[in-house]
Amino acid sequence: MNDPRVPMSSPDLTAAERQAVKQVMESPVLSMGEHTTAFEAAVCEYVGSKYAIAVNSGTAGLHLCVRAAGIGAGDFVLTTPFSFVASTNVLLYENAVPIYVDVDAATGNIDPARLQEAAHDLAHGGAAAARWLPRRGVGAAQPAKAVLPVDVFGQPADYDAIQATAQAHQLTFIEDSCEALGAEYKGTPAGRFGHSAVFAFYPNKQMTTGEGGMIVTDDRQAAQLMRALRNQGRAEGDTWLEHSYLGYNYRTTELSAALGRIQLGRLNEMVARRDQVAGWYSEQLDDFELVHTPQVVASTSRMSWFVYVVRLAPQIDRQAVIARLAEAGIPVRPYFAPIHLQKYMRERFGYELGDFPITEDLGARSLALPFSSVMKQDQVSLVCEELQRAVLA
Ligand SMILES: *Cc1c(COP(=O)(O)O)cnc(C)c1O
Repeated sequence: MNDPRVPMSSPDLTAAERQAVKQVMESPVLSMGEHTTAFEAAVCEYVGSKYAIAVNSGTAGLHLCVRAAGIGAGDFVLTTPFSFVASTNVLLYENAVPIYVDVDAATGNIDPARLQEAAHDLAHGGAAAARWLPRRGVGAAQPAKAVLPVDVFGQPADYDAIQATAQAHQLTFIEDSCEALGAEYKGTPAGRFGHSAVFAFYPNKQMTTGEGGMIVTDDRQAAQLMRALRNQGRAEGDTWLEHSYLGYNYRTTELSAALGRIQLGRLNEMVARRDQVAGWYSEQLDDFELVHTPQVVASTSRMSWFVYVVRLAPQIDRQAVIARLAEAGIPVRPYFAPIHLQKYMRERFGYELGDFPITEDLGARSLALPFSSVMKQDQVSLVCEELQRAVLA
């Protein structure tokens, strides 16, 4: 492609962030210091959680939640195929089995009615349970042990309904809020619904630490275990060469934590800017019937826009649109690519096109447009004009 005329995404960094990182570089403590502790405390306060554990990626955070929940080989976990691969991969790391539930067409979030049906069918066994299983790669049907929903594109999943199903079937509930820090469901922040929840700080997220993630939970025992697992399995009281558990190096750095503290302080301002940018897009595209703009549903009392994803009308050739936009210097991405159709998932579980039609339809028609909190209105206009031109060509 030509040099992009608008970047796909941009971090939003100021002199305050540069100063904070520079100060860490001038100190002798580069890991496990005061910034990590203070960053964790700040996230607790922002979300309203009792405990927060900083890690070096969102994926690492989700993996620790899976470990802390005792999810292991052969366990069934209800989750969504319309996500970034990490939400499924953390289950496979422990040889657990993702049981996919198709999504709601309006939001792309896990469909709560289907979820309820799946949990019920798996609990009762027989033919009704078997239809939720992949073609191969799993043993007999069994009740699900956990549920792992995702807040897709910064919009909270339908938590009242998910919590009801989790309670009815005693499911451990892990919230992948990696795309939704700052979002609220009926007035309650994303991250407050599961036994544990995870946020992520890759540079394209609402706030960044370069790489990084944060687990939040109210469960003291789980928090202690995850803290130990993050640090090579060292429990509280273990010396540097004592390891109570099989752990990982999922620690973050002081550089990242110092950066994260400043970014978190600016998060509300950045989320408001993203909301404004999304508003510009929707204003310009709402009347163009070949492109459907994203829907914010009534239960979302605060949207925290992670990406701005439109859907092309079914008759539009998306590949051609992407190519024309690339030619015009506008980067766009098909987003998400359904997880069940990834090569390694097809090979392991025998998934085929047609297995999750709503996910596949969204996956085939969606297009993420350039988006960030630093985007200007004339850049949005440029993208909208080129998009309309590319669609009509
Ligand atoms: C970003 C993201 C993650 C975590 O990604 P990392 O790159 O490991 O920080 C997990 N799940 C979803 C849905 C995400 O968008």
